[in-house]
Amino acid sequence: MAIKTALPIAFSCGHTETVDLTHVPAGRRKNHAFGLGKNRVCTKCFKTQGAADLDKLNRQTLLDAAAFEQEHELPELTGTEKQLNWATRIRYQVLAAVLEEQDEETASEAFAAARTLTRSGWWIDNCADKDLDTDDHLELIATADESGQPEHVATENPF
Ligand SMILES: [Zn+2]
Repeated sequence: MAIKTALPIAFSCGHTETVDLTHVPAGRRKNHAFGLGKNRVCTKCFKTQGAADLDKLNRQTLLDAAAFEQEHELPELTGTEKQLNWATRIRYQVLAAVLEEQDEETASEAFAAARTLTRSGWWIDNCADKDLDTDDHLELIATADESGQPEHVATENPF
């Protein structure tokens, strides 16, 4: 009879999952399986937990963003719900950084320009790139011209 390479592991979440332990020397597999089970949750619970954490973080950011919008009189964005969630976070993070890093005059000019940029798509298309710094954002905001854009595109309107 061959020595088993995959062992059912009872994880701390209460679920049992068969895990491939080929990489663990045969004589240590049982111990390894016991240690894994004691310290970890199964793959499914691990993924659920990760998603819940992310969801919580996103909700908190949106709450912070809403307070920030009120404080700085930023208009509501237009777009689909998915775009709104994303663009709201981007606008908040970009403008909060502007406020923190720039002098008052620069910041107030940037906020004035930003108030005219109400299309979610603009924020997503222009400011989502992680390589951009605050100076880049300032330039993008200052040179954006949304006057040629329709108020909202029919397909973007969820209502
Ligand atoms: Zn589980």
